[in-house]
Amino acid sequence: MLVIGAGPAALAIATELGRRGVSVEALSATEPEAPWVNTYGIWGEEVDALGLAHLLAHRWSDTVSYFGAGGEQGSEPTLHGRDYGLFDKVALQRYGLETCTAAGLRWRRGTAAHLGHNPTESTVTTRDGEAIKAKLVIDATGHEPVFVRRPADGPIAGQAAYGIVGRFAAPPIAPGQFVFMDFRADHLEEEERRSQPPTFLYAMDLGDGLFFVEETSLALAPPVPFPVLKDRLHRRLAHRGAPVLEVQHEEFCLFPMNPPLPDLSQRVVGFGGAASMVHPASGYLVGGLLRRAPDLAAAVGSGLAAGLSGEALARAAWQGLWPAERRWNHAFFRFGLEKLMRFDEARLRHHFATFFSLPPEQWYGFLTNTLTPRQLLAAMVRLYGLAPWDVRWGLMGLQGREPALLARMLAGG
Ligand SMILES: Cc1cc2nc3c(=O)[nH]c(=O)nc-3n(C[C@H](O)[C@H](O)[C@H](O)COP(=O)(O)OP(=O)(O)OC[C@H]3O[C@@H](n4cnc5c(N)ncnc54)[C@H](O)[C@@H]3O)c2cc1C
Repeated sequence: MLVIGAGPAALAIATELGRRGVSVEALSATEPEAPWVNTYGIWGEEVDALGLAHLLAHRWSDTVSYFGAGGEQGSEPTLHGRDYGLFDKVALQRYGLETCTAAGLRWRRGTAAHLGHNPTESTVTTRDGEAIKAKLVIDATGHEPVFVRRPADGPIAGQAAYGIVGRFAAPPIAPGQFVFMDFRADHLEEEERRSQPPTFLYAMDLGDGLFFVEETSLALAPPVPFPVLKDRLHRRLAHRGAPVLEVQHEEFCLFPMNPPLPDLSQRVVGFGGAASMVHPASGYLVGGLLRRAPDLAAAVGSGLAAGLSGEALARAAWQGLWPAERRWNHAFFRFGLEKLMRFDEARLRHHFATFFSLPPEQWYGFLTNTLTPRQLLAAMVRLYGLAPWDVRWGLMGLQGREPALLARMLAGG
């Protein structure tokens, strides 16, 4: 088995395959120990269920959002009542490297450039001309995969965010707090709020006077440009009397939120960003790939034990990763995101205020993609019943490519 990549997806799947006794090599374009750049957040309950709470650098119990009437400065917070955590990315990477080494993974260095197949095996050739043969290749090279192909079905929306880790003239959020979504927008002109894409603040108190503040756009195609996000963040901070005093780190975050599912009949299998596993409505991936690596590994393990050919093994692997229920959820989330991208700032605030008034197991299950299709539908019916009329109207009409996405959902994803 050959896994390509050395990100969270590659380490998770290599570990699970190794634990099932599958012989695995991994091909990485960089040193596998090259530091990860992204900061990964996760809900407390999710990380607890994975048994990985010890890999968090920070954990907050005071977790809030602001969707309040008028989006004004004095509006009341929505209390989430659930912990949120930030991974210590060095510890998370070290853990991943250690577990896959313990599971027997062997590393190779090289950039995968070409892929060929014959009935029994696949051959990956690196830029340096080295040929590596494997019965199955798993492409875990991220959101722009080197080999996995997806059908084109319209523009892909990006979640864009500009963030700063730094010190401020005053605390930009309450001490000890995590702010999931602050949609207060009274620092913007009325015209901007009406006609420009809505953005919100995602922020955390990192302790010792250090805060991470990030201006974020849920998703848009084309994505909201970084200069707009940066300008809005600085205006938001100035409006709160908390301009930046010192920047320790800047984050330019951009990843695709709603890519279609890959073609599940292709001979190379994907995992992680490469397999469109990012949650199309929340942008989360890490929890999902740690939960779902055992499914893909089990399908590969059983296929190998049954002596499947390379081609049949790839089909079985894709089915293990994307069974019917997951495909339906994915189609549902894509349809939902398409709707939300049309909502203006006021309607989006009303939507989220309603969404977070759902029972916690429903909104949490939605955000982490841990609900069955039936549970997901029940949550959405409830949301519709609770929502004000502007949100209901927004949810009802079908515009742009919404009919096509709805049809895909009704066809099973
Ligand atoms: C700034 C940022 C913040 C994010 N925050 C969160 C978050 O808080 N929570 C969350 O769940 N998700 C978050 N995401 C989304 C997602 O979790 C990440 O994008 C995640 O890193 C994707 O993991 P991956 O392993 O699929 O791909 P990557 O992390 O992109 O890893 C790809 C690997 O493949 C290697 N590679 C690429 N091409 C080749 C090649 N040709 N040959 C060999 N190797 C190759 C790369 O070197 C790399 O090791 C964030 C994304 C970004 C960009």
